[in-house]
Amino acid sequence: MADHLYTVNKACSVCGMDFPVTRVRMRLVKERQDTDFCTYYKDINPYYYTIWVCPHCGYAAQDSHFPNISPANIDKVAKFLAGREVNINLGGERTREQAIAAYKLAIFFADMEGLAASEIAGLYLRLAWLFREGEFDNEEQAALSKAAGYFEQALFKERLPIAGMSEVSITYLVGELLRRTGRAEEGLRYFSKVVASPQAKMEKRILDMARDAWQEARATRNSRISGQ
Ligand SMILES: [Zn+2]
Repeated sequence: MADHLYTVNKACSVCGMDFPVTRVRMRLVKERQDTDFCTYYKDINPYYYTIWVCPHCGYAAQDSHFPNISPANIDKVAKFLAGREVNINLGGERTREQAIAAYKLAIFFADMEGLAASEIAGLYLRLAWLFREGEFDNEEQAALSKAAGYFEQALFKERLPIAGMSEVSITYLVGELLRRTGRAEEGLRYFSKVVASPQAKMEKRILDMARDAWQEARATRNSRISGQ
């Protein structure tokens, strides 16, 4: 595990103090992927390290966002944190519990900053994957539902693609998150959209995944209708 990690110093965007950030080396071996894009790597789970947490002031955010917080939000966050005692250090190798704590903090600040729905959705999705790894089923379901809701908002409100995901991928993902959280009927509507989309022909893998998920969602719905 330690071989895959290295440390860099970063200046906190909110309080200005330096702190060490633990990062994952890029050369990871991919082992498999779940139908909601949760990817498993050999020896390490890189999702543990995508949230940076300042041990001085307590600000936490996704690595891509941390340096880019807007001046207005720096003010807002700094006011909130002023005078609060911070007792958090998530540097070095993280346990799953620490990684979960980091995501919860990042979601808290993302919400305070009013970040785009897609960004909040991505945080909830990766939090759900950590719960999945730990087999915390209820928590996983709650986080997947949140992710589904925010990705739905993103589809309507945001300019696509977002975070490297096309409209077709996000449409599929919303359907899959709904299907995984017991809303197969609503999921079917999204899978149908993917299958009917001319754009999906360019994204063969997503199209195949949407077809498989559509079959599964139909089977779930039909077994409910026949009262089994
Ligand atoms: Zn700070």
